[in-house]
Amino acid sequence: MKNFDNTSPVIFQTADIDKEIIIKEQTGSWQRLRRLIATFLMVIFAGLPFIEFNGQQAILFDIGAQQLRFFGLIFYPQDLLIFFFVFVIAAFLLFFVSARYGRLWCGFLCPQTIWSFMFFWTQFRFEGNYQAQKKLSKLPWSTDKLTRKGLKHVAWLLIAFFTATTFMSYFTPVKPLYIAIFTGELSALFWGWVLFFAFATYTNAGWIKEKMCEHMCPYSRFQSAMIGDETKVITYQASRGEPRAPRKLNREKPDGLGDCVDCNLCVQVCPVGIDIRQGFQYQCISCGLCIDACNQVMTRFGYAKGLIANVANRASNKLRSIAYISVIVVFTAIFAVWLANRSLIEVSIIKDRNVLYRENLDGRFENSYQIKLLNKTNQAKRLILSLPENEGFTIENNKPILLDKEENKLLLINVTSPEGHSAQFTELTFMLTSEQEKVITKSKFHAKAW
Ligand code: SF4
Ligand code: SF4
Repeated sequence: MKNFDNTSPVIFQTADIDKEIIIKEQTGSWQRLRRLIATFLMVIFAGLPFIEFNGQQAILFDIGAQQLRFFGLIFYPQDLLIFFFVFVIAAFLLFFVSARYGRLWCGFLCPQTIWSFMFFWTQFRFEGNYQAQKKLSKLPWSTDKLTRKGLKHVAWLLIAFFTATTFMSYFTPVKPLYIAIFTGELSALFWGWVLFFAFATYTNAGWIKEKMCEHMCPYSRFQSAMIGDETKVITYQASRGEPRAPRKLNREKPDGLGDCVDCNLCVQVCPVGIDIRQGFQYQCISCGLCIDACNQVMTRFGYAKGLIANVANRASNKLRSIAYISVIVVFTAIFAVWLANRSLIEVSIIKDRNVLYRENLDGRFENSYQIKLLNKTNQAKRLILSLPENEGFTIENNKPILLDKEENKLLLINVTSPEGHSAQFTELTFMLTSEQEKVITKSKFHAKAW
Protein backbone atom coordinates (compact mmCIF):
# COMPACT_ATOMS: atom_id res chain seq x y z
CA MET A 1 0.00 0.00 0.00
CA LYS A 2 1.24 3.48 -0.82
CA ASN A 3 2.40 5.51 2.15
CA PHE A 4 0.51 8.80 2.31
CA ASP A 5 1.95 9.97 5.63
CA ASN A 6 3.74 13.29 5.69
CA THR A 7 7.00 11.74 4.52
CA SER A 8 5.42 11.86 1.05
CA PRO A 9 6.69 14.63 -1.20
CA VAL A 10 4.58 17.77 -1.57
CA ILE A 11 1.97 17.17 -4.25
CA PHE A 12 1.45 19.96 -6.77
CA GLN A 13 -1.97 19.65 -8.35
CA THR A 14 -3.31 21.88 -11.07
CA ALA A 15 -6.38 23.41 -9.47
CA ASP A 16 -9.51 24.07 -11.48
CA ILE A 17 -9.38 27.85 -11.42
CA ASP A 18 -13.01 28.37 -12.52
CA LYS A 19 -14.55 25.93 -10.02
CA GLU A 20 -16.36 27.51 -7.07
CA ILE A 21 -15.70 25.59 -3.89
CA ILE A 22 -18.76 25.07 -1.73
CA ILE A 23 -17.86 23.89 1.75
CA LYS A 24 -19.73 22.24 4.58
CA GLU A 25 -19.96 24.26 7.81
CA GLN A 26 -17.93 22.53 10.49
CA THR A 27 -17.71 22.80 14.24
CA GLY A 28 -15.01 21.42 16.50
CA SER A 29 -12.01 22.41 18.57
CA TRP A 30 -9.89 23.67 15.64
CA GLN A 31 -12.76 25.77 14.35
CA ARG A 32 -13.42 27.18 17.84
CA LEU A 33 -9.74 28.07 18.26
CA ARG A 34 -9.63 29.84 14.89
CA ARG A 35 -12.82 31.82 15.68
CA LEU A 36 -11.36 32.86 19.02
CA ILE A 37 -8.09 34.03 17.43
CA ALA A 38 -9.90 35.73 14.53
CA THR A 39 -12.28 37.57 16.90
CA PHE A 40 -9.35 38.73 19.03
CA LEU A 41 -7.44 39.98 15.95
CA MET A 42 -10.53 41.71 14.52
CA VAL A 43 -11.12 43.55 17.81
CA ILE A 44 -7.48 44.72 17.72
CA PHE A 45 -7.73 45.72 14.04
CA ALA A 46 -10.91 47.73 14.53
CA GLY A 47 -10.05 49.11 17.98
CA LEU A 48 -6.41 50.19 17.63
CA PRO A 49 -7.12 53.41 15.67
CA PHE A 50 -9.36 54.61 18.52
CA ILE A 51 -6.63 54.27 21.13
CA GLU A 52 -4.99 57.56 22.08
CA PHE A 53 -1.56 58.19 23.58
CA ASN A 54 -0.57 61.62 24.95
CA GLY A 55 -3.73 63.06 23.42
CA GLN A 56 -2.96 61.79 19.90
CA GLN A 57 -3.96 58.73 17.88
CA ALA A 58 -1.55 56.05 19.11
CA ILE A 59 -0.93 54.43 15.71
CA LEU A 60 -1.08 56.54 12.57
CA PHE A 61 0.74 56.34 9.24
CA ASP A 62 0.34 60.02 8.33
CA ILE A 63 1.35 60.03 4.66
CA GLY A 64 0.79 63.80 4.21
CA ALA A 65 3.13 64.63 7.11
CA GLN A 66 5.47 61.72 6.21
CA GLN A 67 5.21 60.37 9.75
CA LEU A 68 4.53 57.07 11.41
CA ARG A 69 3.24 57.54 14.95
CA PHE A 70 3.48 54.62 17.33
CA PHE A 71 2.52 55.18 20.96
CA GLY A 72 4.40 58.48 21.35
CA LEU A 73 7.29 57.56 19.04
CA ILE A 74 7.38 59.45 15.74
CA PHE A 75 9.25 57.99 12.78
CA TYR A 76 10.16 59.84 9.59
CA PRO A 77 11.49 58.63 6.21
CA GLN A 78 14.99 59.02 7.75
CA ASP A 79 14.04 56.17 10.13
CA LEU A 80 13.23 53.68 7.36
CA LEU A 81 15.55 51.21 9.07
CA ILE A 82 12.64 50.40 11.36
CA PHE A 83 10.93 48.52 8.50
CA PHE A 84 14.11 46.52 7.86
CA PHE A 85 14.20 45.37 11.51
CA VAL A 86 10.46 44.66 11.68
CA PHE A 87 10.50 42.66 8.44
CA VAL A 88 13.61 40.64 9.33
CA ILE A 89 12.30 39.78 12.82
CA ALA A 90 8.82 38.94 11.43
CA ALA A 91 10.32 36.79 8.64
CA PHE A 92 12.46 34.73 11.03
CA LEU A 93 9.51 34.35 13.41
CA LEU A 94 7.50 33.02 10.47
CA PHE A 95 10.33 30.65 9.47
CA PHE A 96 10.59 29.38 13.05
CA VAL A 97 6.84 28.81 13.43
CA SER A 98 6.58 27.21 9.96
CA ALA A 99 9.51 24.86 10.58
CA ARG A 100 7.97 23.67 13.85
CA TYR A 101 4.23 23.94 13.40
CA GLY A 102 3.68 24.10 9.62
CA ARG A 103 1.35 26.69 8.10
CA LEU A 104 -0.06 27.98 11.35
CA TRP A 105 0.09 31.51 9.96
CA CYS A 106 -2.03 30.55 6.90
CA GLY A 107 -4.72 28.68 8.80
CA PHE A 108 -5.13 30.96 11.80
CA LEU A 109 -3.57 34.39 11.39
CA CYS A 110 -3.47 35.34 7.71
CA PRO A 111 -5.99 38.12 6.86
CA GLN A 112 -6.90 36.25 3.64
CA THR A 113 -8.06 33.23 5.69
CA ILE A 114 -9.78 35.31 8.40
CA TRP A 115 -11.78 37.32 5.87
CA SER A 116 -12.54 34.26 3.67
CA PHE A 117 -13.93 32.42 6.71
CA MET A 118 -15.96 35.49 7.65
CA PHE A 119 -17.43 35.50 4.14
CA PHE A 120 -18.07 31.70 4.29
CA TRP A 121 -19.92 32.23 7.58
CA THR A 122 -22.10 34.92 5.97
CA GLN A 123 -22.78 32.63 3.00
CA PHE A 124 -23.98 29.85 5.35
CA ARG A 125 -26.39 32.30 7.01
CA PHE A 126 -28.05 33.35 3.72
CA GLU A 127 -27.69 30.27 1.49
CA GLY A 128 -27.75 27.45 4.04
CA ASN A 129 -25.28 24.62 4.56
CA TYR A 130 -23.44 22.48 2.00
CA GLN A 131 -26.42 20.57 0.56
CA ALA A 132 -28.65 23.66 0.45
CA GLN A 133 -25.96 25.67 -1.35
CA LYS A 134 -25.34 22.89 -3.90
CA LYS A 135 -29.08 22.67 -4.51
CA LEU A 136 -29.45 26.46 -4.77
CA SER A 137 -26.62 26.74 -7.30
CA LYS A 138 -28.40 24.23 -9.62
CA LEU A 139 -31.85 25.87 -9.34
CA PRO A 140 -32.95 28.33 -12.04
CA TRP A 141 -33.08 31.98 -11.01
CA SER A 142 -36.13 32.76 -8.85
CA THR A 143 -37.12 35.46 -6.34
CA ASP A 144 -35.90 33.27 -3.49
CA LYS A 145 -32.51 32.59 -5.13
CA LEU A 146 -32.12 36.24 -6.08
CA THR A 147 -32.97 37.39 -2.54
CA ARG A 148 -30.61 34.94 -0.84
CA LYS A 149 -27.69 35.63 -3.17
CA GLY A 150 -28.42 39.38 -3.20
CA LEU A 151 -28.51 39.64 0.60
CA LYS A 152 -25.28 37.67 0.84
CA HIS A 153 -23.55 40.12 -1.50
CA VAL A 154 -24.95 43.10 0.43
CA ALA A 155 -23.55 41.59 3.64
CA TRP A 156 -20.19 40.95 1.95
CA LEU A 157 -20.10 44.56 0.69
CA LEU A 158 -20.90 45.89 4.16
CA ILE A 159 -18.05 43.86 5.68
CA ALA A 160 -15.76 45.06 2.86
CA PHE A 161 -16.78 48.70 3.47
CA PHE A 162 -16.19 48.35 7.22
CA THR A 163 -12.77 46.78 6.48
CA ALA A 164 -11.82 49.60 4.09
CA THR A 165 -12.81 52.42 6.47
CA THR A 166 -11.02 50.70 9.36
CA PHE A 167 -7.93 50.25 7.20
CA MET A 168 -8.04 53.92 6.14
CA SER A 169 -8.25 55.00 9.78
CA TYR A 170 -4.63 53.85 10.14
CA PHE A 171 -3.68 56.47 7.53
CA THR A 172 -5.85 59.41 8.50
CA PRO A 173 -7.03 60.55 11.96
CA VAL A 174 -9.94 58.30 12.85
CA LYS A 175 -12.45 60.75 14.32
CA PRO A 176 -12.43 63.28 11.44
CA LEU A 177 -12.59 60.31 9.02
CA TYR A 178 -15.78 58.86 10.51
CA ILE A 179 -17.34 62.32 10.98
CA ALA A 180 -16.61 63.07 7.30
CA ILE A 181 -18.12 59.72 6.23
CA PHE A 182 -21.32 60.21 8.22
CA THR A 183 -21.76 63.87 7.26
CA GLY A 184 -20.99 63.18 3.59
CA GLU A 185 -17.96 65.49 3.66
CA LEU A 186 -15.32 62.93 2.78
CA SER A 187 -13.16 64.15 -0.10
CA ALA A 188 -13.33 62.45 -3.49
CA LEU A 189 -9.75 61.21 -3.01
CA PHE A 190 -10.62 59.47 0.27
CA TRP A 191 -13.79 58.02 -1.20
CA GLY A 192 -11.64 56.66 -4.03
CA TRP A 193 -9.31 54.90 -1.56
CA VAL A 194 -12.18 53.60 0.61
CA LEU A 195 -13.94 52.18 -2.44
CA PHE A 196 -10.70 50.71 -3.78
CA PHE A 197 -9.98 48.85 -0.52
CA ALA A 198 -13.63 47.80 -0.17
CA PHE A 199 -13.57 46.41 -3.71
CA ALA A 200 -10.25 44.62 -3.03
CA THR A 201 -11.67 43.02 0.15
CA TYR A 202 -14.94 42.00 -1.53
CA THR A 203 -13.17 40.42 -4.51
CA ASN A 204 -10.45 38.74 -2.46
CA ALA A 205 -12.57 37.22 0.27
CA GLY A 206 -15.76 36.71 -1.74
CA TRP A 207 -14.53 35.60 -5.16
CA ILE A 208 -10.81 34.86 -5.24
CA LYS A 209 -10.67 33.13 -1.83
CA GLU A 210 -8.37 30.07 -1.89
CA LYS A 211 -7.07 30.99 -5.36
CA MET A 212 -5.14 33.85 -3.73
CA CYS A 213 -3.25 31.30 -1.59
CA GLU A 214 -2.75 28.86 -4.47
CA HIS A 215 -1.79 31.16 -7.32
CA MET A 216 -0.67 34.50 -5.90
CA CYS A 217 0.80 34.08 -2.43
CA PRO A 218 4.51 33.17 -2.67
CA TYR A 219 4.52 31.74 0.86
CA SER A 220 2.47 28.67 -0.14
CA ARG A 221 5.12 27.90 -2.79
CA PHE A 222 8.28 28.22 -0.72
CA GLN A 223 6.87 26.68 2.45
CA SER A 224 8.13 23.25 1.40
CA ALA A 225 11.67 24.61 1.86
CA MET A 226 10.91 25.19 5.56
CA ILE A 227 8.92 22.03 6.23
CA GLY A 228 10.80 18.94 7.21
CA ASP A 229 10.19 15.61 8.95
CA GLU A 230 10.13 17.38 12.30
CA THR A 231 7.40 19.85 11.22
CA LYS A 232 3.89 19.25 12.46
CA VAL A 233 1.62 19.04 9.43
CA ILE A 234 -1.97 17.96 9.01
CA THR A 235 -1.74 14.38 7.88
CA TYR A 236 -4.05 11.51 7.08
CA GLN A 237 -2.75 8.39 8.87
CA ALA A 238 -2.90 6.13 5.82
CA SER A 239 -1.49 3.12 7.66
CA ARG A 240 -4.50 3.27 9.97
CA GLY A 241 -7.20 4.44 7.55
CA GLU A 242 -6.55 2.19 4.53
CA PRO A 243 -8.11 0.24 2.95
CA ARG A 244 -10.98 2.69 3.20
CA ALA A 245 -14.62 1.70 2.57
CA PRO A 246 -18.12 2.77 3.64
CA ARG A 247 -19.80 0.72 6.37
CA LYS A 248 -22.87 0.74 8.58
CA LEU A 249 -23.05 2.52 11.94
CA ASN A 250 -23.18 0.49 15.18
CA ARG A 251 -21.74 -2.66 13.56
CA GLU A 252 -18.41 -4.43 14.05
CA LYS A 253 -15.70 -3.13 11.76
CA PRO A 254 -15.57 -5.50 8.73
CA ASP A 255 -12.36 -7.57 8.58
CA GLY A 256 -9.53 -6.21 6.49
CA LEU A 257 -10.79 -2.61 6.45
CA GLY A 258 -9.02 0.43 7.83
CA ASP A 259 -10.70 3.15 9.92
CA CYS A 260 -11.57 5.49 7.03
CA VAL A 261 -15.29 5.08 6.29
CA ASP A 262 -14.89 6.99 3.03
CA CYS A 263 -17.59 9.51 4.01
CA ASN A 264 -15.80 12.29 2.13
CA LEU A 265 -16.55 14.78 4.91
CA CYS A 266 -12.88 15.80 5.13
CA VAL A 267 -13.12 16.88 1.48
CA GLN A 268 -16.49 18.63 1.87
CA VAL A 269 -15.25 20.89 4.69
CA CYS A 270 -11.93 21.75 3.05
CA PRO A 271 -11.84 25.45 2.07
CA VAL A 272 -9.23 24.80 -0.63
CA GLY A 273 -11.06 21.80 -2.07
CA ILE A 274 -8.40 19.11 -1.64
CA ASP A 275 -8.51 15.54 -0.39
CA ILE A 276 -5.98 15.30 2.45
CA ARG A 277 -6.00 11.49 2.02
CA GLN A 278 -3.91 11.96 -1.13
CA GLY A 279 -0.98 13.20 0.97
CA PHE A 280 0.50 16.53 1.92
CA GLN A 281 -0.42 19.14 -0.70
CA TYR A 282 0.85 22.68 -1.10
CA GLN A 283 -2.73 24.03 -1.20
CA CYS A 284 -3.38 22.88 2.40
CA ILE A 285 -3.52 25.93 4.68
CA SER A 286 -3.51 23.86 7.90
CA CYS A 287 -6.94 25.11 8.96
CA GLY A 288 -7.71 21.82 10.75
CA LEU A 289 -11.32 21.62 9.53
CA CYS A 290 -10.72 18.10 8.17
CA ILE A 291 -9.46 17.07 11.64
CA ASP A 292 -12.67 18.35 13.25
CA ALA A 293 -14.82 16.61 10.61
CA CYS A 294 -12.97 13.29 10.81
CA ASN A 295 -12.85 13.27 14.62
CA GLN A 296 -16.64 13.60 14.70
CA VAL A 297 -16.98 10.67 12.25
CA MET A 298 -14.54 8.55 14.27
CA THR A 299 -16.52 9.26 17.47
CA ARG A 300 -19.79 8.28 15.76
CA PHE A 301 -18.30 4.96 14.64
CA GLY A 302 -16.67 4.35 18.03
CA TYR A 303 -13.11 4.57 16.66
CA ALA A 304 -10.24 6.50 18.20
CA LYS A 305 -9.92 10.13 17.13
CA GLY A 306 -6.87 11.29 15.19
CA LEU A 307 -7.17 9.51 11.83
CA ILE A 308 -6.37 12.96 10.46
CA ALA A 309 -4.03 14.69 12.89
CA ASN A 310 -1.45 17.42 13.20
CA VAL A 311 1.72 15.37 13.63
CA ALA A 312 5.43 15.36 12.94
CA ASN A 313 7.40 12.33 11.82
CA ARG A 314 10.19 12.90 14.29
CA ALA A 315 11.18 15.07 17.23
CA SER A 316 11.89 18.70 16.50
CA ASN A 317 15.30 19.73 15.18
CA LYS A 318 16.71 21.62 18.18
CA LEU A 319 19.64 23.02 16.23
CA ARG A 320 17.38 24.61 13.61
CA SER A 321 15.08 26.05 16.30
CA ILE A 322 18.08 27.47 18.22
CA ALA A 323 19.42 29.04 15.01
CA TYR A 324 16.08 30.75 14.26
CA ILE A 325 15.62 31.92 17.86
CA SER A 326 19.21 33.25 17.97
CA VAL A 327 18.65 35.36 14.83
CA ILE A 328 15.37 36.69 16.28
CA VAL A 329 17.00 37.55 19.62
CA VAL A 330 20.05 39.21 18.00
CA PHE A 331 17.97 41.33 15.63
CA THR A 332 15.53 42.28 18.42
CA ALA A 333 18.48 43.39 20.59
CA ILE A 334 20.02 45.44 17.74
CA PHE A 335 16.59 46.95 17.06
CA ALA A 336 16.18 47.91 20.73
CA VAL A 337 19.65 49.53 20.80
CA TRP A 338 18.92 51.39 17.55
CA LEU A 339 15.60 52.65 18.96
CA ALA A 340 17.21 53.78 22.21
CA ASN A 341 20.01 55.67 20.41
CA ARG A 342 17.94 57.07 17.54
CA SER A 343 18.46 60.80 17.21
CA LEU A 344 15.29 62.72 18.04
CA ILE A 345 16.52 65.80 16.20
CA GLU A 346 17.34 65.44 12.52
CA VAL A 347 20.02 67.90 11.39
CA SER A 348 21.52 68.46 8.00
CA ILE A 349 24.02 71.23 7.27
CA ILE A 350 24.61 72.20 3.65
CA LYS A 351 27.45 74.50 2.64
CA ASP A 352 26.49 77.35 0.28
CA ARG A 353 28.24 76.34 -2.94
CA ASN A 354 27.49 79.52 -4.90
CA VAL A 355 29.98 81.59 -2.94
CA LEU A 356 32.72 79.38 -1.49
CA TYR A 357 33.94 82.12 0.90
CA ARG A 358 33.91 85.89 1.47
CA GLU A 359 36.84 87.85 2.84
CA ASN A 360 36.06 90.53 5.46
CA LEU A 361 37.78 93.93 5.71
CA ASP A 362 39.77 92.62 8.68
CA GLY A 363 41.07 89.68 6.59
CA ARG A 364 38.89 87.01 8.18
CA PHE A 365 36.95 84.53 6.02
CA GLU A 366 33.23 83.93 6.13
CA ASN A 367 31.24 80.87 4.90
CA SER A 368 27.43 80.49 4.71
CA TYR A 369 25.49 77.34 5.59
CA GLN A 370 21.88 76.17 5.39
CA ILE A 371 20.76 74.23 8.46
CA LYS A 372 17.71 71.98 8.14
CA LEU A 373 16.25 70.93 11.48
CA LEU A 374 13.47 68.49 12.27
CA ASN A 375 12.09 67.89 15.75
CA LYS A 376 10.99 64.22 15.74
CA THR A 377 9.24 64.46 19.10
CA ASN A 378 5.98 65.95 20.31
CA GLN A 379 7.77 68.29 22.73
CA ALA A 380 9.22 71.72 21.94
CA LYS A 381 13.05 71.94 22.06
CA ARG A 382 15.55 74.69 22.82
CA LEU A 383 18.80 74.06 20.97
CA ILE A 384 22.24 75.64 21.28
CA LEU A 385 24.48 75.56 18.22
CA SER A 386 28.26 75.55 18.77
CA LEU A 387 31.60 74.66 17.16
CA PRO A 388 33.30 72.83 20.07
CA GLU A 389 36.30 71.54 18.09
CA ASN A 390 37.09 74.66 16.04
CA GLU A 391 38.74 77.22 18.28
CA GLY A 392 38.47 80.81 17.07
CA PHE A 393 35.65 80.08 14.58
CA THR A 394 32.46 81.99 15.43
CA ILE A 395 28.81 81.70 14.43
CA GLU A 396 27.33 85.14 13.75
CA ASN A 397 24.27 86.16 15.78
CA ASN A 398 24.28 82.79 17.46
CA LYS A 399 21.12 82.62 19.58
CA PRO A 400 19.29 79.58 21.03
CA ILE A 401 17.09 77.93 18.39
CA LEU A 402 13.50 77.25 19.41
CA LEU A 403 12.00 74.25 17.67
CA ASP A 404 8.32 73.52 18.20
CA LYS A 405 7.06 69.94 18.44
CA GLU A 406 7.40 68.08 15.11
CA GLU A 407 8.62 71.33 13.52
CA ASN A 408 10.71 71.53 10.35
CA LYS A 409 12.98 74.61 10.29
CA LEU A 410 15.43 76.04 7.78
CA LEU A 411 18.13 78.46 9.06
CA LEU A 412 20.87 80.40 7.33
CA ILE A 413 24.05 80.98 9.32
CA ASN A 414 27.44 82.55 8.71
CA VAL A 415 30.64 81.20 10.24
CA THR A 416 33.75 83.41 10.50
CA SER A 417 37.30 82.13 10.73
CA PRO A 418 39.81 83.38 13.34
CA GLU A 419 42.22 86.13 12.38
CA GLY A 420 45.22 84.95 10.36
CA HIS A 421 43.46 81.74 9.29
CA SER A 422 45.36 80.32 6.33
CA ALA A 423 44.14 76.74 5.70
CA GLN A 424 42.25 76.34 2.41
CA PHE A 425 39.94 73.62 3.86
CA THR A 426 38.93 73.10 7.48
CA GLU A 427 36.51 70.54 8.82
CA LEU A 428 33.92 72.18 11.05
CA THR A 429 32.19 70.18 13.79
CA PHE A 430 28.73 71.60 14.49
CA MET A 431 27.12 70.53 17.75
CA LEU A 432 23.46 71.03 18.62
CA THR A 433 22.68 70.62 22.29
CA SER A 434 19.32 70.36 23.99
CA GLU A 435 18.51 69.36 27.55
CA GLN A 436 18.26 65.68 26.65
CA GLU A 437 20.74 65.14 23.86
CA LYS A 438 23.42 66.41 21.57
CA VAL A 439 23.75 65.94 17.83
CA ILE A 440 27.04 66.33 15.97
CA THR A 441 27.40 66.93 12.27
CA LYS A 442 30.32 68.02 10.10
CA SER A 443 30.84 70.32 7.13
CA LYS A 444 33.74 72.00 5.29
CA PHE A 445 35.00 75.58 5.71
CA HIS A 446 36.66 77.17 2.67
CA ALA A 447 39.23 79.97 2.67
CA LYS A 448 41.64 81.55 0.20
CA ALA A 449 44.61 79.37 -0.80
CA TRP A 450 47.82 81.19 0.13
S1 SF4 B 1 -13.55 12.28 7.23
FE1 SF4 B 1 -12.24 10.66 8.01
S2 SF4 B 1 -13.44 8.85 7.68
FE2 SF4 B 1 -14.39 10.39 6.42
S3 SF4 B 1 -13.37 10.18 4.45
FE3 SF4 B 1 -12.22 11.66 5.57
S4 SF4 B 1 -10.58 10.49 6.51
FE4 SF4 B 1 -12.16 9.03 5.91
S1 SF4 C 1 -6.71 19.60 3.95
FE1 SF4 C 1 -7.61 19.93 5.95
S2 SF4 C 1 -6.21 21.36 6.97
FE2 SF4 C 1 -5.72 21.39 4.80
S3 SF4 C 1 -6.90 23.10 4.01
FE3 SF4 C 1 -8.15 21.28 3.72
S4 SF4 C 1 -9.41 21.18 5.55
FE4 SF4 C 1 -7.79 22.61 6.00
